[in-house]
Amino acid sequence: MSQPTILLTPGPTPVPEVTRKVMAEPIFHHRTPKYRKIFGDASERLKKVFLTKNPVYTFAGSGSLAMEAALVNFHSAGDKVLVVENGKFAERFTLIAKAFGLNAISLKVPYGEAPQPKLIEEALQKDPDIKAVCVQLCETSTAVLSDIKAIGEIVAKTNALLIVDAISGLGADRLETDNWHVDLVVSGSQKALMLPPGLAFLSVSEKARSRMAAAKLPKFYYDLKYYEKSLKDSDTPWTPALTLVIGLQKSLDLIEQEGIENVFKRCAANATFTRESLQKMGLKLFSKAASSTVTAAWLPEGIDGEKLCEVMRDEKGIAMAGGQGDQMKGKVVRICHMGAITKQDIEKGLKVLGETLKEMKSSSGSSCCCSCK
Ligand SMILES: *Cc1c(COP(=O)(O)O)cnc(C)c1O
Repeated sequence: MSQPTILLTPGPTPVPEVTRKVMAEPIFHHRTPKYRKIFGDASERLKKVFLTKNPVYTFAGSGSLAMEAALVNFHSAGDKVLVVENGKFAERFTLIAKAFGLNAISLKVPYGEAPQPKLIEEALQKDPDIKAVCVQLCETSTAVLSDIKAIGEIVAKTNALLIVDAISGLGADRLETDNWHVDLVVSGSQKALMLPPGLAFLSVSEKARSRMAAAKLPKFYYDLKYYEKSLKDSDTPWTPALTLVIGLQKSLDLIEQEGIENVFKRCAANATFTRESLQKMGLKLFSKAASSTVTAAWLPEGIDGEKLCEVMRDEKGIAMAGGQGDQMKGKVVRICHMGAITKQDIEKGLKVLGETLKEMKSSSGSSCCCSCK
């Protein structure tokens, strides 16, 4: 069998063998004490990764489902929400809000820069009607880390809820949900949580919960009132993605064995290593606020980033992500250091990146007349 591709992409990330093994066991029925024990246990232990005492709900779906659930369960048509837009995933909050008839106000932040808490404060003062502030922990498209602690202090003084998309960042970049006054934390299984895609998570503060009853947007599948009732019995209202929940228990074992603080430290050390190595290769970093989840770097002038990622993936077994969106597509490369990605994986990836860049540079130089468009 050929070597599997090394995934350095921002989801899916590698799934450890111990986790893959438990997920390969024969299936059983979910309306059983056996399943409720597993789900109840996982739901409790997830709180230690979210650093919260509040409930964490698990949905079958990708992370975006929990982004939608975080907006829809707490709002009514026409409600104003402030979306801090500093990348492609932030823009998704705006798309969801608009799809449900919310009044989305965009606070535009240049790609590569972290949101300035001061500007969020000013926006909230100017518009006391704002019901929620949406922001990413790590904006995966730009590799920018937001200062959630500072933003949390500001939002906590208002009636607005703070919604943090930590789909990629949770379990890689520090997020102290309760201490930092974050009302709703969204995450997903396929990034730092070392699982295949298919689970979405949402933690809900008391401040958020108290708004649920008055929120009138239509919803059913992810209506939290059903999930709240079921979770009391360690259950879900609809059929859970039980194979993934069994895997989740294993992931939580791995995180607990290492210790969440050590996980943060390891991701931070691998992130530093990645940034320093890229700079040694002569590449300029894209993000001005480094994240432990993912690093993005500008590619040299004349290099087609899409082609670069394709060659590395198809010919050399290294999957990295290219850029997303107008300013970044084809021009940047993104390398992750979250989840089960090891320093060895990153070293191998960087070596292949260096080699491939050299090959592409020399071929574009010598055969310019026939290959240039
Ligand atoms: C990956 C990602 C998403 C999208 O999650 P899906 O699981 O693909 O729905 C949203 N936000 C951030 C920050 C992400 O990294």
